[in-house]
Amino acid sequence: MIPTARSYRLAKARVHQSVTPGLAAISDSDGFALVDVTVTDGRIAAITPHDRAAAHANATDLGGRIVLPCFVDCHTHIDKGHIWPRRPNPDGTFMGALNAAGADRVARWNAEDVARRMDFSLRSAYAHGTRALRTHLDSVPPQEEISWPVFEAVRDEWRGRIELQGACLLGIDGVRDKKWFDALAARVAAAKGVLGVVTYMLPDLEELLDHVFAKAIEHGLDLDFHADETDDIAAISLKKIAEAALWSGFEGNILVGHCCSLARQPDLDVLETLDKVAKAGLAVVSLPMCNLYLQDRRSDQTTPRWRGVTLLHEMKARGIPVAVASDNTRDPFYAYGDLDMLEVYRMATRILHFDHPVADWPKAVAATPAKVMRLDGFGTLAAGGDADFIVFKGRSWTELLSRPESDRIVVRAGHAIERELPDYAELDELMVE
Ligand SMILES: [Zn+2]
Repeated sequence: MIPTARSYRLAKARVHQSVTPGLAAISDSDGFALVDVTVTDGRIAAITPHDRAAAHANATDLGGRIVLPCFVDCHTHIDKGHIWPRRPNPDGTFMGALNAAGADRVARWNAEDVARRMDFSLRSAYAHGTRALRTHLDSVPPQEEISWPVFEAVRDEWRGRIELQGACLLGIDGVRDKKWFDALAARVAAAKGVLGVVTYMLPDLEELLDHVFAKAIEHGLDLDFHADETDDIAAISLKKIAEAALWSGFEGNILVGHCCSLARQPDLDVLETLDKVAKAGLAVVSLPMCNLYLQDRRSDQTTPRWRGVTLLHEMKARGIPVAVASDNTRDPFYAYGDLDMLEVYRMATRILHFDHPVADWPKAVAATPAKVMRLDGFGTLAAGGDADFIVFKGRSWTELLSRPESDRIVVRAGHAIERELPDYAELDELMVE
């Protein structure tokens, strides 16, 4: 369906105004506009309102199929991915996940194991239409010495297909060992990575956060936090991060993931926190599938009563940049998943109500995470930009989000790619005891 010529025209593509700038005036109530797209030498030469009269005889008619920019997945754990067969979560709880993943890391995460599982994950993400991806990397000693060199090699190998970013991951109590943490920050800086920690309520949380910010400033690093992944209303580390950002005068990008407890806190507390988050310029990413899986998991076989996600609508209304992302895939934190950002968007639409109206929610899997990750030109369709987009079967939101769209067409630099998902059997030999 996608021509192989160096220049071609796609007629009657349905694009969304939130991720295709300049179309608001001609878009319908769902935010869609029918356009003709000209592609030349791997770039988008022009996007013009669809003109039936002017339709070229040699144009390819997309028949109103939806065309979205390639996805940007800003929060994943591809170092943990696909270990489920050898290390399942015994009870589906957060603690069960933490213990199982930790034991697997100590026992099994040599360079080859990490590299092969990472590559498997990236092949899936690429086939589904993802163009950029940030992964956290467990950096508890001695794992950082194994995983960061693997990450650098994998990033080089994937350059041009998936722009890969890495953020270190450790509990913030690990920052108490300043000598070790300072060396880690230097290592992350050497790899052009992102400084990341998991925050939870500790008596010295503020002091530890101050140190994290000081190191980020010293090395010119962006920050990425896992915060308050719990239903405990006493968990307010999101607010502490915002305060630390304001105190420190930090000017880099800060992404905060999860923030589940915020949805359980009293309204006045929530408003105070959101004011600070907005003022401090934090961006927030919700991980709807993983949070749905882990949060409100009950040991007594009773039914979960809440969805686990944070207050994205309230955040967006205040101008806080908000995203959704994959998080874990087939590991103890989430038994499922395949780094398919259409699945994430579909699930987010159901769990978080990204509909009625859809408004500009598509940005949450495209332009917004691209900005957080400092990737110019990613996550939008625009004349002059790269011809990196996905052509779906669906012609409306209800068609797009009702089926898995396994037959979507992924176009990279103007050409339809071979979309081959890796076979699970490839990992079998890594799964034996
Ligand atoms: Zn995570």
